[in-house]
Amino acid sequence: MLVSCWCLYLGAQSLYRHVLSMASVVQKLITPLFSGTLEPPRNKVTVVGVGQVGMACAVSVLLRDLADELALVDVVEDKLKGEMMDLQHGSLFLKTPKIVSGKDYSVTANSRVVVVTAGVRQQEGESRLNLVQRNVNIFKHIIPQIVRYSPNCILIVVSNPVDVLTYVTWKLSGLPKHRVIGSGTNLDSARFRYLMAERMGIHPSSFNGWILGEHGDSSVPVWSGANVAGVSLQKLNPDIGKDTDKENWKETHKKVVDSAYEVIRLKGYTNWAIGLSVADLTESLMKNLNRVHPVSTMVKGMYGIGDEVYLSLPCVLNSAGVGSVVNMTLTGDEISQLKKSADMLWQIQKDLKDL
Ligand code: NAD
Repeated sequence: MLVSCWCLYLGAQSLYRHVLSMASVVQKLITPLFSGTLEPPRNKVTVVGVGQVGMACAVSVLLRDLADELALVDVVEDKLKGEMMDLQHGSLFLKTPKIVSGKDYSVTANSRVVVVTAGVRQQEGESRLNLVQRNVNIFKHIIPQIVRYSPNCILIVVSNPVDVLTYVTWKLSGLPKHRVIGSGTNLDSARFRYLMAERMGIHPSSFNGWILGEHGDSSVPVWSGANVAGVSLQKLNPDIGKDTDKENWKETHKKVVDSAYEVIRLKGYTNWAIGLSVADLTESLMKNLNRVHPVSTMVKGMYGIGDEVYLSLPCVLNSAGVGSVVNMTLTGDEISQLKKSADMLWQIQKDLKDL
């Protein structure tokens, strides 16, 4: 009896050694405890369009550890694969374990936030509004695909003209308005805060100032609310922002409006600041921060605006999207400038077909 047990034991031992010798390095190294199917990603971000702006957004999102999966989509397959591989090779320095890409929108499935940067950009001296019809046509292909694979996502539109394209996206997607956001004047406000703060010798985060309305040529600087540590600049200089101002602070807003044209003239495109600012918006959405950002939202019914247009107002961003809008105490002049932007955008939108 004892002998036969011993023989069995030796047999099992040699079988075990044999199985082990057949096993791969990974099988020898790692003993799995779980063999079920993995859950879908919880914090997936997709970037559509891997041009200059899309890649700046992607890198900024990665460096801020906002996503457990990043998906990239574009129509130019070699560039798309190259960008994906280049980012994957940086995985050692990142905390986003999965980076995928594809022309087919199935790679975007289960995204929480989708950033749309696809489309044509301005050439030197060209206005954003001039891009409208070409980018509307591109969006007709993109938006239904995104919603098909991520029906619960929040969309951030970045492509220009951003306010019109956010409206187009809202119409094409069928999503509720609070889940369709345009990056809007988030970038204009960041430029304004940088330029104003530079002039005062302080950090941009310590100068509080808002640029609202259209992203671009008709944007509205809210001089009545500009302050440092709660000290109103308008109280110190009642002419601030006006033509009569001897200190010419208005020049700062002009520089904001001109800055995209200037950067495009110098380097051909703008990308780093928009990428950083989109990652900041993404953070508020992914982490349910309830921070207030100037982004493009549907403003019908606000400040006497009667048409369905998207314009930037201070919006509370959380995991639902635009949770609410802050009602600013604007001056009559600021309100009429907002209305002028709204009218101008509606004139363009009303002729768009098949939305
Ligand atoms: P780009 O030419 O470098 O990249 C655009 C990308 O979109 C390309 O890779 C192209 O292949 C891709 N694309 C085109 N059609 C597509 C489709 N149907 N599906 C998927 N991808 C498609 O341009 P860019 O410099 O990255 O600018 C992108 C957009 O962002 C432009 O409209 C530009 O005006 C805008 N932009 C907006 C802001 C802002 O503040 N909102 C700032 C800068 C740029």
